[in-house]
Amino acid sequence: MNRETTWEKACAVLPGGVNSPVRAFGGVGGIPVFMKRSAGAFLFDENGKAYIDLVLSWGPMILGHNPPEVVEALKDQLSRGLSFGTCTGAEADLAALILNMIPGMDMLRLVNSGTEATMSAVRVARGYTGQDKIIKFRGCYHGHGDSFLIQAGSGALTHGAPSSLGVTAGTAGDTLIADYNDLQAAESLFERYPDSIAAVIVEPVAGNMGVVPPLPGFLEGLRSLCSRFGSVLIFDEVMTGFRVARGGAAERYSVQPDMITLGKIAGGGLPLAAYAGKREIMNMVSPLGKVYQAGTLSGNPMAVAAGTAHLRLLERMNPWRVLEEKTDYLCSGLKRAAEKNGVSVQVNQVGSMFTLFFTAEPVTDTKSALAADAACFARFFHAMLEAGIYFPPSQYESAFLSLAHEQNHLDQIIKAAETFFEKGRNQ
Ligand SMILES: *Cc1c(COP(=O)(O)O)cnc(C)c1O
Repeated sequence: MNRETTWEKACAVLPGGVNSPVRAFGGVGGIPVFMKRSAGAFLFDENGKAYIDLVLSWGPMILGHNPPEVVEALKDQLSRGLSFGTCTGAEADLAALILNMIPGMDMLRLVNSGTEATMSAVRVARGYTGQDKIIKFRGCYHGHGDSFLIQAGSGALTHGAPSSLGVTAGTAGDTLIADYNDLQAAESLFERYPDSIAAVIVEPVAGNMGVVPPLPGFLEGLRSLCSRFGSVLIFDEVMTGFRVARGGAAERYSVQPDMITLGKIAGGGLPLAAYAGKREIMNMVSPLGKVYQAGTLSGNPMAVAAGTAHLRLLERMNPWRVLEEKTDYLCSGLKRAAEKNGVSVQVNQVGSMFTLFFTAEPVTDTKSALAADAACFARFFHAMLEAGIYFPPSQYESAFLSLAHEQNHLDQIIKAAETFFEKGRNQ
C-alpha cells in the first residue's frame, strides 16, 4: 500500500484529507501515516510497521488499546443490539459509576462528544443564571462549538486560526477572553461585566496548547470569583477526567467546580461524553427544566457498554500512581538526554500527560507556548516517527502514556530522542 496514493484519494473526498484537522500533519509537515490496527501500546500502519503510540486516540486509551474486558462487553452488547433509542438500565448504571468517581456532582447527561458536552454545559449555565457572557482562556480548547472558537487551542492553534470564520459577531461578543493562568485578567472581566457572566469555562490542566499546568492559586481564584459574582464554574475535564486522577483535576487540585464536562476516557474508545452538575443546575435540563438538549444516539448501548467496562476496569486497576511514575521516568529521561546535548527543553507534565517544548523559558500560557521552537518540534516528530514512535503531530497537543507502556518502551523512546538531540549538536 502506497501512502501517497491513499493520501491523494483522501484529499479528493475529505477536506484536507481528514475528518479532524490535526491529523493532517499541518503542524509538522509531510503526509500522515494511515493506521490499520492497534494493540496495547502500539499502532500498526498499512504496511505493518509498529509505532509506540503516545497519542492514544487523543487520550481515551489510558489502559492501552483494546483491553479484553472492553472488547468482551462490546461483543456481548453486539449480540443483543446496536441501538434502541429507548431507556436502558445500563445508562443509569454508567451515570452512577461516573458520579461516584468524580467529586461533588449530583446528576449528569450522556452525549456523544466533548463538543456536545461543553456546548450543552454552557447553555445550561446560561439558562441557570439568566446571563449571556462566558469567560474562556486563550489557548484552551473546548470543542468546536461557536462560542469556543475564539482564541482556541488544539487544531485551531496548530493551523494558525485560533478564531474561526463562520462565528457570528454576536456569538463572539459573548465570549470574553483572558490569558491562561492570569487570574487578574479574569477578575478585571468580572469587574467590567459584574452582572452578565453566566460561566467561566476552563481546562483545569490545559492540554490543547501543549500541556500547561495551572499555577498555584489560579483554579482556587476562579472558584472564588465565580462564587462572588454568582457565575457557574465549569471544569472542562474532557481530557483530564479519569486521566490526571481518578476524579480528574477537580480531585487532584481539590477545587470544586459547579459543572464538569467529560469525554475521551469516559467512552473507552467509543463516542461518549457527559456533562455533570449540581442538582439545582441539572434540574434546568429538559424534560425537568427549560434548557433543551437531546440526542438520537445519546446513551446508545454500544458506547455505554464500552464506557462502563472501561471505567470499571479503571476502578479495579487503580492505575494513576503507576502511570505517573512511568511518566516521571520518561519525562526526566527526555530532559536529561536534551541537557546532556545542550538542547534547551521544557517538559511540562501533569500525571500521565506531557509535552516537550523546545525553549529555555517556562511555558505557562499561549504566549510562552508559541515562543517555543515549533520547527524543531516538527523535526523531532519526524525523527521519532521514523524510529517507530508516534508523538502527537503538533507542538500544541498533549502526549499520553497508558498502562500498556512498559519500561522497555520508555527506554526506547528516550534512546531515540537522545539520538535526535546528538544529531542536532553535531550539525
Ligand atoms: C477533546 C476535547 C474536547 C472536544 O471533545 P470532542 O469529543 O473532540 O468533541 C473538549 N474539551 C477538551 C478539553 C478536549 O480535550
